[in-house]
Amino acid sequence: MMATMRKPIVGFDFDGVVAYNPARLARYPISFFKQNILGIKKVSFFVPKNSVERAFWSLAHESSMFPAYGASRLRNLVKDSRIEAHLVTSRFGFLEPNLQRFLKFWGFTDTFTSVTLNRNEEQPHEFKERIIRAKKLDYFVEDNWDIVSYLATKKLSTEIHWIYNVFDRNKPYQHKYPYLEKSLLRITKT
Ligand SMILES: [Mg+2]
Repeated sequence: MMATMRKPIVGFDFDGVVAYNPARLARYPISFFKQNILGIKKVSFFVPKNSVERAFWSLAHESSMFPAYGASRLRNLVKDSRIEAHLVTSRFGFLEPNLQRFLKFWGFTDTFTSVTLNRNEEQPHEFKERIIRAKKLDYFVEDNWDIVSYLATKKLSTEIHWIYNVFDRNKPYQHKYPYLEKSLLRITKT
């Protein structure tokens, strides 16, 4: 009997992977400051707690408004049954309307088998590890180096793809890609 090739189950981060956010590079100096000036090495992320912090957080995410280079290939791969796609975003639950607006506006409502937000406000790296395991993903595509490097230590059977930016492009990593399109080409080996 010939083994039938199972289509890969692929998880995608949203901000910086499926959606291109021109403002995302602004986060880099903050991370640099924390790590190199304040000497904070432990991975931890800001969690907005009160309504004012949440309003600013929402506003900051409204700028993630363009599909990334490769997003239309992603949609077509799903249409052609070549991959099964899951969206896994550490965006908090209150950002869901904003996310749904994006998916509807750009025509991605039928693309993802599941959309998982960080509803319990877990630390993003721990949240993603938990979902990657639960969904038994073959691949996960992520742009945040702190999250990628954390996941890389976890001996997951998932291949973690890193979408790098101009600032940390020189970091050595086996599965690094400049944008989503290149990661998808690797996954489908085309
Ligand atoms: Mg991201």
